[in-house]
Amino acid sequence: MSIEHYSLLPHLPKELLALADLALDLRWSWSHAADTLWEHAAAELWSLTRNPWLILQSISAERLEQLAADSDFVAMLADFHDSHEKTLAMPSWYEQAYPQPPVRQIAYFSMEFGISEALPIYSGGLGILAGDCLKTASDLGIPMVGLGLLWQQGYFRQVINGNGCQEEVFPFNNPHHLPVLPVRDAKGEWLRVELPFPGRLILLRAWEARIGRARLYLLDSNDPINHPADCGITSELYGGGSEMRLQQEICLGVGGWLLLGKLGIQTEICHLNEGHAAFAVIARARDHAQRHGVDFSSALHATRAGNIFTTHTPVSAGFDRFSPELLRQYSFGIAAETLLALGRENPEDREEPFNMAYLAMRGSILANGVSHLHGQVSRRIFQPLFPGWPQEEVPVTHVTNGVHVPSWDSPAATTTWTKVCGKGRWMGDLEEEEINGLFQDVSDQSLWDLRSQARSRLVTFARDRHLRQLASTGASVEQIKQAEFALDPNILTIGFARRFTAYKRPNMLLCDPGRLYRLLTHPRYPVQMIIAGKAHPQDDVGKNMIHQWNQFIAGHPDLADKLVFLEDYDMLLAEQMVQGVDLWINTPRRPWEACGTSGMKVLVNGGLNLSELDGWWAEAYTPEVGWAIGDMQEHDSDLAWDTKEANDLYSLLEGEVAPLFYHDRDPQGCPCGWVAMMRESMTRLTPRFSSNRMLREYLERLYMPATCLYAKRQDQAFVDALHDWRVAVERHWNQVHFGELCITEDDDTYLFHLPVYFNDLPPDFVKVELYAIPWDHSKAITHSMQRGEAIGGSINGFHFTVCIPKERPVGDYTPRIIPALEGAIVPTEARQILWYPR
Ligand SMILES: *Cc1c(COP(=O)(O)O)cnc(C)c1O
Repeated sequence: MSIEHYSLLPHLPKELLALADLALDLRWSWSHAADTLWEHAAAELWSLTRNPWLILQSISAERLEQLAADSDFVAMLADFHDSHEKTLAMPSWYEQAYPQPPVRQIAYFSMEFGISEALPIYSGGLGILAGDCLKTASDLGIPMVGLGLLWQQGYFRQVINGNGCQEEVFPFNNPHHLPVLPVRDAKGEWLRVELPFPGRLILLRAWEARIGRARLYLLDSNDPINHPADCGITSELYGGGSEMRLQQEICLGVGGWLLLGKLGIQTEICHLNEGHAAFAVIARARDHAQRHGVDFSSALHATRAGNIFTTHTPVSAGFDRFSPELLRQYSFGIAAETLLALGRENPEDREEPFNMAYLAMRGSILANGVSHLHGQVSRRIFQPLFPGWPQEEVPVTHVTNGVHVPSWDSPAATTTWTKVCGKGRWMGDLEEEEINGLFQDVSDQSLWDLRSQARSRLVTFARDRHLRQLASTGASVEQIKQAEFALDPNILTIGFARRFTAYKRPNMLLCDPGRLYRLLTHPRYPVQMIIAGKAHPQDDVGKNMIHQWNQFIAGHPDLADKLVFLEDYDMLLAEQMVQGVDLWINTPRRPWEACGTSGMKVLVNGGLNLSELDGWWAEAYTPEVGWAIGDMQEHDSDLAWDTKEANDLYSLLEGEVAPLFYHDRDPQGCPCGWVAMMRESMTRLTPRFSSNRMLREYLERLYMPATCLYAKRQDQAFVDALHDWRVAVERHWNQVHFGELCITEDDDTYLFHLPVYFNDLPPDFVKVELYAIPWDHSKAITHSMQRGEAIGGSINGFHFTVCIPKERPVGDYTPRIIPALEGAIVPTEARQILWYPR
C-alpha cells in the first residue's frame, strides 16, 4: 500500500491507518462485513452517505482521536482489516478450478463503470454490467483489470420540478473526493499517457480504484498541463458532439492500451464492452508491429486473436459512426485509409462513415451479443460484413448478461441465502439443481417473511426520499403531511424503473388511465407503484413521458399514497427498489432490449417479473416463474399493437397477479401460490442470471479459446502462414469454379460427386462442403466433401465426393467452398464463400 492517499485525508492516527485501506477498497459496496465499523465511527455520516471514503474525508480530527483512544474500536478495526486481507488472499475459485491458469490477464475496456454511487461514472445498464463484471472477477479470482475514463461530471442528475418535468444538473466529481488514487510511476511521478491530437499533444492522468482483487484504471484529461478545451474531454459521459465523442473514444481505446503498457500489465485478452473502445485494437496492433518489426496487417492478425467484442445494440442505428473527414484529422500511427477501411461495410467506399462496431468486429476474433435473442439480432445486423453467408453463420455468439448478486440482495435475503446455501455461494460454481434442493427445506412462511421485511424497508426508504423530493420542490404542507404516510407495507408493491425512452414504453400503464386508477384503488386487491427513471437530456420523447406520469400523479391527489415517482434513478435507488418490490415490470418493444438486467436484480430478493418477451426474459420465462406479455414477434412501433399489449398487461395484473398475491392465504397470512412462484423464480433463475455464471461462460467460451489462438500467433511463422493464406484466398478466389454436380443414390444414402477447379489457389486453403438450411435458427448443417483424384488434364482440378444418409430431400443440399486453415476462424478472418449455382 502506498502512503499516497494520506495526503487526501485528514491526518489519521497510526492506530487507524487501516481505515484508509478498507475505505479505498470498493469491495465494501457489496461486502457489508465492516458496516458496523463505519456506523460506529460516524453514525450520522454513515446513514446519510454509506460511503466510507467520504466518512474518512469528513470526520473531525477530534473524533479520530477519540476512536484511536478507544481500544475496543482499534481492536475491531484490526479484526476487520485482518479478515479483509485474508479474504483477498484466500485461494479463489479460479485458482482451484484451474491450477494452471489458462488465461493470465484480461483487460476489460468500457466507457462506463457502475460500481457504486461513490464513484458515479456510469449512466445505465452498460456501466452496471461492467461494474458487475469486475466485482465478479474479484469474487472468482479471474485476473481482470478494468480500463475506463474518470468522468468529471459523470452522467447528469435528475430533478423533477414543480411542474413534473425533468431538469438536469451536473455536479462536479472532485476526483480527490472519490475513492480513487493517482497512479505513480517508480520515481513517484504521476503516471500520464500522451496522445497526439491535431496540432497538439494531450495528456491523460491515471487513477486507480480497487475492487477487491480486481483493479480499475481510469484516465482523465482534466490536467492543468492540457489546453483548457482539452481538459473537458473526460467531463460529460455521453455529452458533447461527434468530435468530442471521437476524442473520448480515442482516450479510452488508445489511451487505455498505452496505460496498460506503462503499468507493465501484459494482457492476453482485451475485452471491448461495446464498440466505444475499438481503437484499442489499432493501438494494440501498432504496438505489436513496432515491437516485432512487422507490418501493421501482420500485427493485426497476430493480436486480434486476443480481442473479444461484446455488442450491446439491437439496431445498427445505435452504432457510433464518424465522418471520414473528421477521422482523417486524427493520427493513429497508420495510414488513414487503412484505418477507415476497417470501419466500413465496403472498404472501398471513400464516402462511407466509419463505424466503431465494424472496427470492433474486424479487430476481434470472437464477438457476442448479450442474450440468446440479441445474438440472433446481432447476426442479422452484422450480416452486411459477411456477404453470401447464411445469417446463422455470421460469427456472433451470445453470452446472456447476469448481475452481481451480492451487490443487489437485501439484508433479509442475505440472511436467508447464507442460511440455506452457505457464505461462499456466489464465489464458486453453485448450480441451479443444487440450490433448488437446498431450498426445499425453507418454509413458505420464512420466504414470505423475507418478502415482507424487504417491502417494509422499501416503504420506509421511499417515504423518506419522496418527502425530501417534495420539500425541495415547494410542495404544500398538506402534500407533505400526506406523503409521510404514503405507501403501505402490506400491499402488493410494483416497481418500474429504467431509462425513459420510446422503446422502453415506460408509459404503457398510462394507456388507459381509468383502468390504472381502478387497479390502484381496487377494494380487495389494491396495488401500489414506485416509478423512477431519467431521460437523456436530448430525448424529448422520454422527457415527455416523465412529465405524463407526474401529471397523472398531480391530477389524482387521492392516489398520492399509492403512486410515487422518485427522482434521480441511480444505483442507490435501484438497489432499494429491487430489494423491496414484489413485482418488477418491464415493457420494452421487442427486440430493442438487448438483454435488460434490472429484472434479474429482483430474483435473489424473491421479487417476481412481469415483462415483455424480449432480452433475457424471452429465455427465462416459464409460467412457473413469472408473467409475460408479447407473442415473441416484432411489431415495430405499431400503435395498435402497443394498445393490445397494454390491455394484456392490465388484464394480467387484474386477473392473475393481484389475485395470486391476496388469495389462498394460509392461517398465518402467507399467500401459498405467490410464495410457490417466488421459490421457483429464486432458485431457478438467480444462479442462471448471475454474473458468476456469465463470467465463467466468458472465460470458458471466449477468453480461453481466444488465449489459445493468441498464443499460437506469438509464433511469427504461423502469422506469416496465416497472412499467405489470406492473400492467396483474396487474390485467387475468383478463379475457383465448379464442374457439373452429379448425385447418385441407393436405398439409404446419397452420393455427391463434384469436380472443382482451383487454378492458382492451393486446394489446401479451402474446404468444400455440402450445406443445408437448418430447420430452426440453430447451427448450420454441413458435410465436408473429401478431395479425391486430380481431374485428368486439368490445372489444379480435383474430384470431391461425400456420401450422406437420406435424412432430407436431396434438393436441400447445396455445395459450397469456403476458406479454411487450422488456427484461423472463418468467416471472421476470411469471408469469401462460393456457392454451387442452382
Ligand atoms: C440495473 C440498472 C440499469 C439497467 O437496467 P435495464 O433497464 O434493465 O437496462 C440501469 N440503471 C441503473 C441505476 C441500474 O441499477
